[in-house]
Amino acid sequence: MLSRLVRQILQATVYDVAIETPLEAAPRISEKLNNNIRFKREDLQPVFSFKLRGAYNRISQLPRAQLERGVITASAGNHAQGVALSGKKLGIRAIIVMPKTTPDIKVQAVKRLGGEVVLHGDSFDVANKYAIQRAAEDGMSFIPPYDDEMVMAGQGTIGNEILRQWRDVDYVFVAVGGGGLIAGVAAYLGDVAPHVKVIPVEYDESACLKAAFEAGERVVLPQVGLFADGTAVAQIGEKPFEVIQLQKSDNSGPIVEREVVLVNTDEICAAIKDTYDECRSIVEPSGAMALAGIKKYIEKHELIGQNIVS
Ligand SMILES: *Cc1c(COP(=O)(O)O)cnc(C)c1O
Repeated sequence: MLSRLVRQILQATVYDVAIETPLEAAPRISEKLNNNIRFKREDLQPVFSFKLRGAYNRISQLPRAQLERGVITASAGNHAQGVALSGKKLGIRAIIVMPKTTPDIKVQAVKRLGGEVVLHGDSFDVANKYAIQRAAEDGMSFIPPYDDEMVMAGQGTIGNEILRQWRDVDYVFVAVGGGGLIAGVAAYLGDVAPHVKVIPVEYDESACLKAAFEAGERVVLPQVGLFADGTAVAQIGEKPFEVIQLQKSDNSGPIVEREVVLVNTDEICAAIKDTYDECRSIVEPSGAMALAGIKKYIEKHELIGQNIVS
């Protein structure tokens, strides 16, 4: 399973639309924390997030006949823009179903990218069910945001880039929503560089991976906080959870550390400010979660002089 994923990551077609983002040094925060911190600048992607990688990899590998029937997804966030831009790049129809409650700015962002927006239902769940049903009825391909091998493989290209950009990396901290990003990154590193520790970071009001680790199976959280909206997922993805539990190639342990770092709203806000002070970029809450987790983990484990990626 692990080596199959690595092969898929190496064969992933992401660079038609995504860029290889820089891994930037963060000298101020590094000095403050007594460790070497670098930022993987996925906020510099064309749609400001890594979601483009998975969406494009999944869509571009569809057979021609299926491509021509178009793609459909449900999302009010970064996945929506990734699918819309991928559709535009491939010259195919892309329908994005969004709940009626979606802010107009997000609707407009998808439309600008050539996506066809369908407003349906009052919650993500209702919109998602509708998109899946419509895909079946119209013969369009449904593009999941994380629960898919090709999506995970697309996100996993980040692991490949990090290793090439920083051979001496010790830790990679990853924000977890449905788990597609961490599954892809950890699959690559767990196979190719098993000495690297991959640490999951969750918002304490949507800690669905921690809940699954504790229960020994995927559980549905009764409610999720929406502040970190990019990671507000009530249940860890089925395929990501399978991958997350795989063993490293040297059998030294699971590819993702069992200790989940939980961060709260205040800690995320502090990390947004840290990021601004460091590079004058303003990131969304989910984009600051990894750094918030790094700060907490360093303090708890008294790390010094480690090479750490956010
Ligand atoms: C989607 C997203 C995540 C989480 O990715 P998953 O694959 O759902 O775990 C984290 N940060 C940002 C900015 C995102 O858009």
